[in-house]
Amino acid sequence: MSENQTILFSKPRPHVAHLMLNRPETRNAQDTAFLYALNDAFDRAAQDDEVKVIVLSAAGPHFSSGHDLREKGGHDNMRKHETVETWSGFGKPGAEAQFAREKEIYIGFCERWRNIPKPTIAAVHGKVIAGGLMLMWPCDLIVAADDTAFLDQTVAMGVGGAEYFMHPWEMGIRKAKEFLFTADWIEAKEALRLGMVNHVVPRQELLDFTFAMAERIAQKPMFALKLVKEAVNAAQDAQGRRTAMQVSFALHHLAHTHNQLNFGTLVDPTGLMGPMATKANAATKKTAAE
Ligand code: ZN
Repeated sequence: MSENQTILFSKPRPHVAHLMLNRPETRNAQDTAFLYALNDAFDRAAQDDEVKVIVLSAAGPHFSSGHDLREKGGHDNMRKHETVETWSGFGKPGAEAQFAREKEIYIGFCERWRNIPKPTIAAVHGKVIAGGLMLMWPCDLIVAADDTAFLDQTVAMGVGGAEYFMHPWEMGIRKAKEFLFTADWIEAKEALRLGMVNHVVPRQELLDFTFAMAERIAQKPMFALKLVKEAVNAAQDAQGRRTAMQVSFALHHLAHTHNQLNFGTLVDPTGLMGPMATKANAATKKTAAE
């Protein structure tokens, strides 16, 4: 395991790779370099024939505070990386650059990770906020520590949901609407009831529990694991997931463009501070400041 890296890679059990988000000073906020490092780590685990199951967890008090809105020069930073999708125009004016950037590092990466032909398990704890959901939802299974709480405050920020819009499939139609409309927190126990996570375990048992589950899965034949994952994902896509996500992504970018025209920023700057601010948003700010 190499230190001083934003993503740590190890093999803690036979045939199990462990990817750990390691930007605790920002509560694992995701900037461009961080997401490319995570994508590289997923690729490394995917391409290693010895690895059969991939576990994703996080260092620090929180799993992820979401996208790093403090990142400067995000579009220029795209040029520092070899892109993995075919979108281009990262320096173009108008809506083009932002659309290309999010096609690559947000929805593009999430789809790649969701389709890795090996079982993946997210082990989450603390706060999981907006873009943070986009790191755990692409995983096949989710184990949550009992201190975990989930939030998507993007509507309050003038944008309709995080880019990888899995909300209706992850929590059901009615709860997805409530979650987005209110920007209220969902606790681990409620996430379990909704079927958004597989298990809730005491915080101190999170990794042991997850690694033990990964080991049980790793005892199964790899090819059968790959095939059954494809089959379940195909069932979900047959329900229209991909088409629905293309619509929500286009609407998301309509909102970004609207905010750029009105405020000169991708999100509504009054969203977190103005009269619409909710207790949840206040808590978000507190978490970001922690
Ligand atoms: Zn966006």
